[in-house]
Amino acid sequence: MPAVIDDFGEGESLQHLVFRGVGELGWEETEAPVIQDDRDALVRPIAVARCDLDTAIAIGLYPMQPPFTMGHEMVGEVVEVGEKAGEWKPGDRVIVPFQISCGECSMCKRGLTNACESVPLGAAFGLAVREGMDFGGALSDLIRVPWADHMLLPLPDSIAPEVAAGIPDNVSDGYRTVAEPLAANPGAPVLVAGGPAQSVGLYAVAAAVALGSERVVYVDFDEHRAEVARGLGAEAIAMTFDELVEFTWDERFPITVDACALPPGRTLALNSASPCGHCTSVSGGPTPTSEVPLSRMYAKGITYEVSRVHARTTAPAVIDLVTEGRLDPGALITRTVPFDEAAEAMTEDAIKIVFTR
Ligand SMILES: [Zn+2]
Ligand SMILES: [Zn+2]
Repeated sequence: MPAVIDDFGEGESLQHLVFRGVGELGWEETEAPVIQDDRDALVRPIAVARCDLDTAIAIGLYPMQPPFTMGHEMVGEVVEVGEKAGEWKPGDRVIVPFQISCGECSMCKRGLTNACESVPLGAAFGLAVREGMDFGGALSDLIRVPWADHMLLPLPDSIAPEVAAGIPDNVSDGYRTVAEPLAANPGAPVLVAGGPAQSVGLYAVAAAVALGSERVVYVDFDEHRAEVARGLGAEAIAMTFDELVEFTWDERFPITVDACALPPGRTLALNSASPCGHCTSVSGGPTPTSEVPLSRMYAKGITYEVSRVHARTTAPAVIDLVTEGRLDPGALITRTVPFDEAAEAMTEDAIKIVFTR
């Protein structure tokens, strides 16, 4: 059972959800974090969204070195702050971008917060420990947030914690696949290939609609996700996985998104890009190397972006869009689940689960 806020003090213990390998996920006791640097804040997670990647890790589709604490899309409440943690005070509700970034290095100053030079590449809450630096995970009673003045974002009063919980990662990830391409090409049609990066693909649809794309087309091998995409305003095409592998068409789009995370979706997104089009993959795929149709991409002049989101840089624009009522992350929430049931719900067949206290 997660403890209550008043239980913590130096040397106290808490509960956290530890991934020890496929099929080995459970709550364990550990030492509570403390302020280590005067720029730290201690935050109590109050709503944690299940990332698409969490499910892939839990079922072994995306191997990641255990052990680590799971949960990295979080809204929390500030419990304690260091002297140089900015204006934050206990009780403030905050959105916590999942990647650790300092806000001070040259990469952070360029907005490339996923490549912060102050921490190992890939350093994040709730994912594999990088070079011995363990920042813990959100499915925990308390986490330590470094560089809190830079890292933390205020949760607007108008957004419920469970609705905002996906903003630190998946909502922002979907948004960034279309935001810059649509800013460069206003109103342009968008194709999204959906799949296991299921909420990211659907958030890309929602963001493309919100940002004024004149036509959003969604292709998936899952009829339910296609139905959800229709509800968000897309034309949606569902087919079997075997049909997707064989699928070809003459449709072309200036902006395409590969949120499939499997080769047929990437191929569809790349082949469906118009000459001088822009394609973004939100995953490198399940294997270290992948085939891409480079010579055709060269001839057409395709800009291909394959990267993780820069969460801290992207989140404020997403928060604005949600506050304005133009994007509703809550539309994708399948159900909310108590923290206690997070281990079981990690592998549940659902688009988006949010864990709450
Ligand atoms: Zn994630
Ligand atoms: Zn940095």
